[in-house]
Amino acid sequence: MPRTGTSRTSTICLQCGGTTWARRIGTHLVRLTEPASLAGKEIHVYRVALQECKACGCRILTRAGRAKVERCVTRGIQLFLGFLS
Ligand SMILES: [Zn+2]
Repeated sequence: MPRTGTSRTSTICLQCGGTTWARRIGTHLVRLTEPASLAGKEIHVYRVALQECKACGCRILTRAGRAKVERCVTRGIQLFLGFLS
C-alpha cells in the first residue's frame, strides 16, 4: 500500500466513503440547542474553511473551520444572552 510522507490521515466521506476533497470557503449555519432559552436560534458563520467531497458534493468543516465555528458560536451565545454590550 503506497504511502506518501506528507499526507495525514484522510477524512472519509460519511455519505459515499470518498476520500478526495476540494477546498471551499463557505457559510456554515449552526442551530443552537442549548442553553434552552436560545434553542432554535441560528448563527451564521461566514467564510469558514470547508472541504467538499469530489464524489458526492457533500461539505464538511475542516479542523480550522470547526475551530472558527466554535469561537463564533461561543461569542454568538454571549451576544444573545447580553453578556457583551
Ligand atoms: Zn461523498
